[in-house]
Amino acid sequence: MTNKKSKNRAVCYRCYRPESSCMCDYIVPVETETRFVILMHPKEFRKTKNGTGHFTHLSLPNSEIHIGVDFSKHTTINKIINDPENSCYVLYPHKTSINLNERSIGEESKKRIVFLIDSTWPCSRAILTDSPNIDNLQKVSFSHTEVSGFTFKQQPKAYCLSTMESTLCVLKLLNEHRVEDISPQKMKGFLKPFEKMVEYQLSCNHV
Ligand SMILES: [Zn+2]
Repeated sequence: MTNKKSKNRAVCYRCYRPESSCMCDYIVPVETETRFVILMHPKEFRKTKNGTGHFTHLSLPNSEIHIGVDFSKHTTINKIINDPENSCYVLYPHKTSINLNERSIGEESKKRIVFLIDSTWPCSRAILTDSPNIDNLQKVSFSHTEVSGFTFKQQPKAYCLSTMESTLCVLKLLNEHRVEDISPQKMKGFLKPFEKMVEYQLSCNHV
């Protein structure tokens, strides 16, 4: 779905990219048992150029996306968190985090919900500070040695991955723990829109 406001500013309202570099064709939907709730900082929402939260949402049919900073009174989110049928986690590195490389997450007969914060590190902290309901969730993290492919985005540290790259790491580890059963082919295609976007940005002069 597109909205042509002006000839050069047409935006794809699916992937929120300029129509000229819409990445929708590269999206490979990956079905998951785990439900992903993507929390996007408004600052990230405006960055149509490099946000990967939308790609992550489009690639995961079992996901939803919410934009904001303070989610403490967010009805939908609190319903998810307070539902006794759900086991909720938030992906965030912390000394109390469960390291997914070491153990799995989830409880028998409960739905596994993973909250993903799509934001820079300072904005992620702002979301947790303003949203005690999210901050109180069991945090999960993973160890990785990969360097982000996000070469044009100023990440404070090389090991800070984009939301999409982090999500792929989580999917791989959940697969290893056999709580997900995603085919290697799907795994391989997951980052395609992200890689194509980086490729596109690098080919432009204004990076
Ligand atoms: Zn698009």
